[in-house]
Amino acid sequence: MTAGRILGEEGRTAVEDPAQATEARRGAGAYRSRGITLVRGEGAWLWDSEGRRYVDCVGGQGAAILGHGHPRLAETLARQAARLISCPGSFANDARGAVYERLAAFTGMARFFLCNSGTEAVEAALKYARWSTGRSRLVACMRGFHGRTMGSLSVTWDRHYREPFAPLVPDAEHVPFGRLEGLDELARDAAAILVEPVQGEGGVRPAPAGYLAGLREICDRHGTLLIFDEIQTGLGRTGRPMAAEHWGVQADLVTLGKGLAGGVPMGALALREGLEPFPVGAHGSTFGGNPLAAAAAVTVLEVIEADRLPQRARRLGEEALATLRRELQSAPQVREVRGLGLLIGIELRSKAGPLLQRLAAEDGILALPAGPTVLRLLPPLVIAEDDLRRVIERLVVRLRGGA
Ligand code: PLP
Repeated sequence: MTAGRILGEEGRTAVEDPAQATEARRGAGAYRSRGITLVRGEGAWLWDSEGRRYVDCVGGQGAAILGHGHPRLAETLARQAARLISCPGSFANDARGAVYERLAAFTGMARFFLCNSGTEAVEAALKYARWSTGRSRLVACMRGFHGRTMGSLSVTWDRHYREPFAPLVPDAEHVPFGRLEGLDELARDAAAILVEPVQGEGGVRPAPAGYLAGLREICDRHGTLLIFDEIQTGLGRTGRPMAAEHWGVQADLVTLGKGLAGGVPMGALALREGLEPFPVGAHGSTFGGNPLAAAAAVTVLEVIEADRLPQRARRLGEEALATLRRELQSAPQVREVRGLGLLIGIELRSKAGPLLQRLAAEDGILALPAGPTVLRLLPPLVIAEDDLRRVIERLVVRLRGGA
């Protein structure tokens, strides 16, 4: 595939961009190019190689929680890079110690396994659940997304992700999200039930009232572990430090990733108080908990608290959702507006791709899909109010106007 074709797919007429050409030729082909080369960012703004500015509602797929070029994060990274980057888990480290304490205070959980991505956090959770219960069955939800390594893929729902790599873990079963019927029987001999409090990739779907509490009861009855995947929803995104707080339910295990170190790769598995730690040697990671990512995460958690970002996400999200619901209630293209905090989805009656392209090319707005027909906004939590309002206004104009 040539760079020219990729640019053409996006309807852009710009001359071939060298970075896109090289990525098309040398990359392993895992990604569909959006035909834009991003070179710089500041807050919730991004600039492309042609000097065009965008409002960023992709937010590094949720990782750029503090936006781009955050001065405190940049300063932390420079300082820690000059001091110490590598430190294996068998040696202690001051930055890692600090992040454990911060995470405990922020999440209310007791112990943490630090890794480098969301999917690794899920892998750690699945291994922990199997080891601690001695059971093998994993129960996950239809439309759930938990990552792309083989274990996480087994509990991810969408067959497009899974089927080419079958056979996967044979003991993974998918049940309808939001429904408790039949689960009691299934949970009886399961190691864990795994669920996102708000399904992200699966279309931005908050758990219905009573569902998470119902899962908690079922798990308690059978000694099954309840795992909340908060990789997309955690760290203030939905308007509370952790999304499960909206429902007042505590999981046994929680997975974190994305924004944890502000875009520096990092994931974490959190264990609640009272759970046994892993036996020595049962799990590990060369890079997990490295001082660079750990120092970044300490700064991220400090800024989230000091700047009250969960509260901000709640306020901005409520306003945006109210406007979208009000203005789009009779828009013929719109099926439903859903979301919580700054995780917002608009389900269309047609594919989201063409609208995403027009927003980028004509309005300077970058947004994401969540499945084929849902347009998702996942902006940095620091997005300026005016920028978010402009995004919402443009969406309303486009969706009411039929484009
Ligand atoms: N779990 C959820 C809920 C996610 O949204 C994602 C990524 O989008 C993952 C797991 C996988 O995270 P990563 O891409 O960092 O492996």
